Amino acid sequence: THQLEIRDLHVSVGDKKILNGVNLIVPKGELHAIMGPNGNGKSTLAKVLIGDPEYTVESGEILLDGENILEMEPDERARKGLFLAFQYPVEIPGVTIANFLRLAMQARKAEGEEVGFMEFYQKLTHALEVLEWPESVVERYLNEGFSGGEKKRNEILQMLMLEPEYIIMDETDSGLDVDALKIVAKGVNSMRGENLGGLIITHYQRLLDYIVPDKVHVIVNGRVVESGGPELAKKLDTEGYDWVKELAGA
Ligand code: ADP
Ligand code: MG
Ligand code: MG
Repeated sequence: THQLEIRDLHVSVGDKKILNGVNLIVPKGELHAIMGPNGNGKSTLAKVLIGDPEYTVESGEILLDGENILEMEPDERARKGLFLAFQYPVEIPGVTIANFLRLAMQARKAEGEEVGFMEFYQKLTHALEVLEWPESVVERYLNEGFSGGEKKRNEILQMLMLEPEYIIMDETDSGLDVDALKIVAKGVNSMRGENLGGLIITHYQRLLDYIVPDKVHVIVNGRVVESGGPELAKKLDTEGYDWVKELAGA
């Protein structure tokens, strides 16, 4: 079974219950959008997927290709092919993009296996071409002095280099102008195919004009209350979230 499956997931932070039984199946090869009003657990889901220790999983399972990943450390999940693009990308002073990419690729290799220079360079050239970025950019320090658009483009660069099997993107569109949004979408779309699955989490429909999802799920009160095709995103865009809140009894 090549899929990301979330089974009856209950999550809390401190005394606060945030996810109340999320069920979701994303077959490899499909990108599903997660939408929903603010403060209803979308980012919490992303953080639990990547293994953020701040969130307590009360019950439920997350199966990656049939394997429960909840007991795995974040780096082990990454080696299994899971990739999270962060809502607020970090700055790492003194590390260039090129160094960071080399280290990140190396971290995914089995012990004793090296990232070859040619492999690295060919992938990098291809990725920079997709992202319409000059080669000199990789000598810049990671995220230092980057605009919002550059940070996002850098996330997609990491994604293209690491070739994950499942991606989790959380609010990748926030604060982006249309040109930056199109570049980000171009990068993601260039990876789409039977070897890529994942979740595109977004409050707004706008990103989904450029990355058309295979399915759309709506989270309210920490549960998936409605699922549908791309037309569901359009409906939420024109009609807002009130009707799904009612469905959820909120
Ligand atoms: P969304 O991404 O849908 O906007 P979040 O998952 O970020 O929602 O948050 C869901 C709820 O959980 C909110 O009420 C938020 O304040 C709360 N929450 C999320 N993370 C934490 C945290 N680390 N500590 C306390 N409360 C949190
Ligand atoms: Mg939020
Ligand atoms: Mg969020």
